[in-house]
Amino acid sequence: MPLPVNPPATPATLSQNARTVLEKRYLVKDKSGKPVETPEDMFWRVATTIAEADRKYGATDKQIEKTANQFYELMTQRRFEPNSPTLMNAGRPLGQLSACFVLPVDDALSNGQSGIYDTLRSMALIHQSGGGTGFSFSRLRARGSMVRSTTGVASGPISFMQLYDASTDAVKQGGTRRGANMGILRVDHPDVMEFITSKEDLTKITNFNISVAITTKYMEALKAGTSYDLIDPATKKVVGQMDAKEVWDKMIEGAWRTGEPGVFFIDEANRYNPVPHLGAYEATNPCGEQPLLPYDVCNLGSINVGYYVNDGKMDWKSFAKDIHLSTKFLDNVIDANKYPLPEIDALSKRIRRIGLGVMGFADALIKLGIVYDSPEGVEFGRKVMEFVDVEGKKESARLAEERGAFPEWAQSIWGPDATCARDENGNRIRPELKLRNCNVTTVAPTGTISIIAGCSSGLEPLFAVAFMRNQAGVMMPDVNEDFVAIAKKEGWYSDALMERIAKTGSVIQPEVPEKWQKVFATANNIAPEWHIRMQAAFQEHCDSAISKTTNFSHAATQDDVRKIYELAYEMKCKGVTVYRDGSRDGQVLSTGATA
Ligand code: UDP
Repeated sequence: MPLPVNPPATPATLSQNARTVLEKRYLVKDKSGKPVETPEDMFWRVATTIAEADRKYGATDKQIEKTANQFYELMTQRRFEPNSPTLMNAGRPLGQLSACFVLPVDDALSNGQSGIYDTLRSMALIHQSGGGTGFSFSRLRARGSMVRSTTGVASGPISFMQLYDASTDAVKQGGTRRGANMGILRVDHPDVMEFITSKEDLTKITNFNISVAITTKYMEALKAGTSYDLIDPATKKVVGQMDAKEVWDKMIEGAWRTGEPGVFFIDEANRYNPVPHLGAYEATNPCGEQPLLPYDVCNLGSINVGYYVNDGKMDWKSFAKDIHLSTKFLDNVIDANKYPLPEIDALSKRIRRIGLGVMGFADALIKLGIVYDSPEGVEFGRKVMEFVDVEGKKESARLAEERGAFPEWAQSIWGPDATCARDENGNRIRPELKLRNCNVTTVAPTGTISIIAGCSSGLEPLFAVAFMRNQAGVMMPDVNEDFVAIAKKEGWYSDALMERIAKTGSVIQPEVPEKWQKVFATANNIAPEWHIRMQAAFQEHCDSAISKTTNFSHAATQDDVRKIYELAYEMKCKGVTVYRDGSRDGQVLSTGATA
């Protein structure tokens, strides 16, 4: 008995902005570009495709239909959304459902698998399917090194990153979004200074975010005020030295000037690599929340925390129920997925990595009347992420009982094998836990799915209370409905006030009571330290990493940025991304004050 073709009768509760985004980029279209499905059809297409994966584990038609209905409700009520590729591609010929990939780049033009041009080809295939790719260019020999076969000189990692960038321009992602990339270079690579400044000219390498992989050894040299060794990736020999502070200063200057490079604390990330016996992390996905092994992949999904706050109270019971359902959804995605490369397909089935996170966190705080940049705000963040992590793991453990643990479990940091489950002092990194998934939790940016769900993005504070958003080339107004409702209820609403807020980007206005000025504090009104404190609190209970931008006002100094980088390291964040207001043209989000 096949599943019903048509979606259930209950419509999706979507805003006009959400419908516009879906029509422009997500719905199946005919040759003339006209959508041939409604948003409800799309959610049903996704729900049935993902529920269908249960058949492999013995589910009956009836059970599958029930699960499909649950998934449909979950998404149409905007309680949870999977990452964009799942919405776009599930149940369609391409069938590629994941947002995040990392590919290896070997120091050879081609070796039939992961040489520079082999990986370039793989990148194109992934972009075509809507995925984002991360690369470490650290294995490539330095610029000016000898090329033995030709006795010429190597052009170095940065030149090949430019090549990847140009190719990305040529391949539009699945016709819906342009390819996004992360480029990583280790701080001990001889070309590190060239890498740090490679994006100084903002018109170059536009399809890459770049981050420097920072080692503990380097941080020790920085602290001690000494120099550190540069290592030739080919011979592993020390080929020079750099003053740690000089490199740090250059990174800070770049971050202050343009937001790049970011930093990736690679040793901290590797401490929690769940499957060290299969290799080390060397890069992350484009937005940094997923450190991944070579040929690794992750499908993401985010729960809308604000949904669970009613009448000023958090409904933890419903939240838990949905965390379980969402975890199962993401595990099913692995089976329903059509991966673009056999290596990726194989690894994904051996470790079954998923990334469950949150969005609408700022909305939840607002509904609870809690200030983001306060000890209570950070404490609530920690509690929410711990809850997602604990309940997500319970479901992953339940699935392990039902369907088996991920095949590499025994040797993973969750498994009984003592050799790889211990740190240098002999202590376990993680408790022994039979799980279906090597990693369960993360926090994604939720750039588009938060618009679909009509909520604040990821764990970020509100960007603004009223602003214009550039979404797929369309400028869309965005006004915070909670703010409007409170203003109307308390009698201080006026169109003039909203206009002023949109223009100045600030809720610090005479008619707004002080309490609400604090609760509705926006990204730029929040001191950078609080951004990092929140990131660190979420990181404490998160398997993978956190996508977070620490915002600075335009007037912030390089020293302000330096302090934040150092605080993030001390607080054991896995990376830092900063953004100084107005430091780039064409911001995706802009308030009147900087546009
Ligand atoms: N991503 C991408 N291209 C984009 C946006 C995102 O490849 O234009 C990938 C990237 O790996 C990022 C991940 O998708 O880290 C999740 O981003 P986000 O949560 O913003 O995606 P959404 O599901 O909301 O589209």
